[in-house]
Amino acid sequence: MALFKLENVEDLYEIGEVLGSGHFGQVREVRERATGTLWAGKFLKLRKNASSRLGIERKSVEKEVEILQTLQHGNIMAIRDVFESRAEVVLIVELIRGGELFDFVAEKENLTEREAIEFLEQILHGVQYMHSKRIAHFDLKPENIMLSEKAVPHPNIKVIDFGLAHHFEQGEEYKSISGTPQYIAPEVINYEPLSEATDMWSIGVITYILLSGMSPFQGDTDGETLKNIVDMTYEFDDYHFKQTSDMAKDFIQKLLRKEQNERMTADECLLHPWIKPLTRKQAATRNRSSINMKNFKRFNAKRKWKMSYNMVSACNRFCRLQLLCKPSIKVDEELRQCESDQEDTETKPETLLRRRLSSSS
Ligand code: AMP
Repeated sequence: MALFKLENVEDLYEIGEVLGSGHFGQVREVRERATGTLWAGKFLKLRKNASSRLGIERKSVEKEVEILQTLQHGNIMAIRDVFESRAEVVLIVELIRGGELFDFVAEKENLTEREAIEFLEQILHGVQYMHSKRIAHFDLKPENIMLSEKAVPHPNIKVIDFGLAHHFEQGEEYKSISGTPQYIAPEVINYEPLSEATDMWSIGVITYILLSGMSPFQGDTDGETLKNIVDMTYEFDDYHFKQTSDMAKDFIQKLLRKEQNERMTADECLLHPWIKPLTRKQAATRNRSSINMKNFKRFNAKRKWKMSYNMVSACNRFCRLQLLCKPSIKVDEELRQCESDQEDTETKPETLLRRRLSSSS
């Protein structure tokens, strides 16, 4: 079992600015007092009791920590330490300074497929490694793909957020209905056994978006999106894919398969000619084809707007709730809890998906 230190985190680390917010708390920059080294601290509010729906269960944090401690790879966020108090667990993790890959790409004027593949290849290496340890991420999406640094010639990818990840036991059947609608595979929606192939579907969706700025299954509502996924309703429309190579489309098609055992594995992806060209002609095609930057920028702006809209509305709901129930709560506490509050306010049938739903609709 993962060991959580009982010391006060603030005795060892100076807590700095907020870097981002997750579903159960905030991520902040922290400075190690002894060395001055900067890290990120992921502050997770613990669930007070079994009947409470606010906060995260301790055993879920243990699972995330055990998984992170198992994974040591250049493309996966590293964990350094864990602290626990009565109400909170703090994960001290590697500080990732370069922001999200999609934001980095959206700032560019143009990007060839070959340049996009440099990033994709790194994602695949990270995923190949975790799958070799029988760990699946189950929440691969743009928000969880970051860059160590961005002002360098070849930025390094870091996969983050292992909050939904699972370590498969030998012969284990694992089902879960968690994830983010746009990126989840049909087996998640159908509550069927999941596998590492479930991540490969998400990589297919991410690649599709990266190349075209379109989300393959996006409907007007989450319900419609989920239906499109189950019905496998997607296409490469000529307008958005006119700059895309046939090899890229072939790569995506081999991931967006309903049957898990028909999808390419991470190993197979790394050998696909789009990633690893066998001939000069294949290599040249990747240089000639480019991503649909105009549409990609539009997609990313909309994605960011939705993320901040969801965060503000969740916080507003939470603040209203707190004003009614506990007028004395500190502002900082409110902000830390606002994401968890989203769970309590889910009412639509399609919100069967336990977490992350609000970030996509
Ligand atoms: P998470 O709860 O892991 O999904 O993280 C929430 C947000 O915090 C992410 O979307 C990032 O913007 C930010 N974040 C998470 N981990 C790190 C990190 N190690 N370094 C910098 N920012 C991070």
